[in-house]
Amino acid sequence: MVNGLKGIKTIREFELNDKNVFLRLDLNVPLENGKISDETRITASLPTIQYALEKGAKLVMASHLGRPKAAGDKKYSLEPVANRLSELLKKEVILIEDPKSDAVKHLLKTMKKDQVILLENLRYEPGETENSEEFALALASYTQIYINDAFGASHRAHASIDALPRLIKDRGIGFLIEKEIKMLDQLMENPKRPYIAIMGGAKVSDKIDVIEKLMNVVDGFIIGGAMAYTFLKAKGLPVGRSLVEADKVSYAKEMMARIEARNKTVLLPVDHMVTTDIASNKATATRDQSIEENFMGVDIGPQTIKNYSTAIMGAATVFWNGPMGIFENPAYAEGTFAIAKALAESKGVKIVGGGDSAAAAEASGFADKMTHISTGGGASLEYLQGDRLPGLEVLRPKKTSEGLA
Ligand code: AMP
Repeated sequence: MVNGLKGIKTIREFELNDKNVFLRLDLNVPLENGKISDETRITASLPTIQYALEKGAKLVMASHLGRPKAAGDKKYSLEPVANRLSELLKKEVILIEDPKSDAVKHLLKTMKKDQVILLENLRYEPGETENSEEFALALASYTQIYINDAFGASHRAHASIDALPRLIKDRGIGFLIEKEIKMLDQLMENPKRPYIAIMGGAKVSDKIDVIEKLMNVVDGFIIGGAMAYTFLKAKGLPVGRSLVEADKVSYAKEMMARIEARNKTVLLPVDHMVTTDIASNKATATRDQSIEENFMGVDIGPQTIKNYSTAIMGAATVFWNGPMGIFENPAYAEGTFAIAKALAESKGVKIVGGGDSAAAAEASGFADKMTHISTGGGASLEYLQGDRLPGLEVLRPKKTSEGLA
């Protein structure tokens, strides 16, 4: 049986009162001109933060934000996040510039109930991405209990995800990771049937490993986005100037044959929205499955929307990963949003991968109708394709010469 959480403690199992709790969160939100443009990751972190505070923990919260090249690069400061957290928690959030300084230890001694600590962007410190033990030791010097709730960062062996919990005996996960893993496990073990995976986005190559895994459990695939043109090319259809991964055409052909040999379906677009110039923001529908020379596919066509929506409505479980077109441009977003609408109307279990799929679900206005939208694009794909997430593995009990440590 798939149980990605086996042996891992949750925050419920610790006595938090008056303890220094290091809470690794994923507060890596998109910022536009210093303003948070999507606060999903902050709100998704609130249940664990609030639980820890209710239980009397002295909280040190930590996260990365973007990929700063130099320490202190203001563009990547967690200050806007600290301000928003302060509003949501109705507490003073004290942002500590240097997580290695003694300031944290001093503060923890004098901290009041209405105060919480947030460390500045962990990636200001090169030791974070280097998984440095020295950096981890500095963080450990004020940590009694370690809780990881940063699902979106758990596929990276960085210091706050891997080296730090190795040094702490009392370690576990928060509610967000628990929910994410339970949702993803549901997709691999005993899903309600029929079960369909919608695969879209730019590249087949990024999704091969996950398609290979899903092939064993789903009843069918729906293929959209630029990925579809590689499959159509594999069927010998003309795709004009559409994005195609030439070196994946034979894989696509072989993969379709394997899926069909198992009596499972692969739905491909039967018409497309095409343009000769992306910058024109105008697209027209093709009459059939082929795309004329000089045209490129930017979205699925109206008949395809109907076919895919019917298939979605007939499914009891749907996993959606990747947009149906260049959805960032409203002129080419109709297909992607129609898929989100069909999911919203379906009564089945509908789980949306992170990254672009989560952004598409948000932009469609139907996000609140999904069973679950993952907060981690890379992490959810890696987990589904069977990779071990360093951030989870480190929290499992290890067999040592003295027994279980
Ligand atoms: P991925 O990260 O692989 O899920 O790909 C997401 C990206 O695929 C988005 O930025 C979309 O704009 C892009 N995309 C989807 N459909 C197309 C298409 N028909 N042509 C070019 N790019 C596409």
